[in-house]
Amino acid sequence: MNIILLGPPGAGKGTQAKRLEESRGMVQLSTGDMLRAEVQSESTLGKEAKAVMDAGKLVSDALVIGIIGNRIDQPDCKNGFILDGFPRTVAQAEALDGMLEEKGMTLDAVIEMKVDDAALTERITGRYTCGTCGQGYHDTFHKPAKAGICDKCGGTEFKRRADDNAETVTSRLEAYHAQTAPILPYYADRGMLKSVDGMADMDEVTRQIEKVLG
Ligand code: AMP
Repeated sequence: MNIILLGPPGAGKGTQAKRLEESRGMVQLSTGDMLRAEVQSESTLGKEAKAVMDAGKLVSDALVIGIIGNRIDQPDCKNGFILDGFPRTVAQAEALDGMLEEKGMTLDAVIEMKVDDAALTERITGRYTCGTCGQGYHDTFHKPAKAGICDKCGGTEFKRRADDNAETVTSRLEAYHAQTAPILPYYADRGMLKSVDGMADMDEVTRQIEKVLG
């Protein structure tokens, strides 16, 4: 099964994608994670993307379409994939359709995670992850049981994304409403769009997603 998790930054797409990886053996394809890895390795592509990402804007369609096109050819995608953060423009959605058709693959569901803008800034600016295992935490909503020690792996190094600050979040939300929200009708018109309540607690969101996937 191949699906898209759609929603604004901070909606919980990454969290839910990781849960689906564990429960269904699907693979999470996060263009944000892929781009951050390129930035980290200081590749040409990473250098090109960094300034755009730091400004909270979208990198070019051609760049992310190329990255995803290569990634879905990998053997692990045969068990099903979860697109997280892609597509983000109508041009990307169209390119994805073309790519899937060419590769003989199908898209089974597009799940929108609905969250109020007001909740997103607080969610994003407070979040951080364990530098060792990637477990997610939040300054207010989810602290480690012992301060400074990861509950999952015992790691003591934590990191925050460079773009998880108040100014950049405003630009990222603007980009979502102006450039990404128009893909909701694109999938609704094709009868593929399902919505879940992204304001509910994490376990309830997981239940709603599992119900949609059946
Ligand atoms: P994310 O981790 O999904 O929040 O993405 C972080 C940043 O990476 C975004 O703010 C964009 O600058 C860039 N990015 C990730 N995915 C895409 C995409 N599909 N199209 C354009 N830019 C993207």
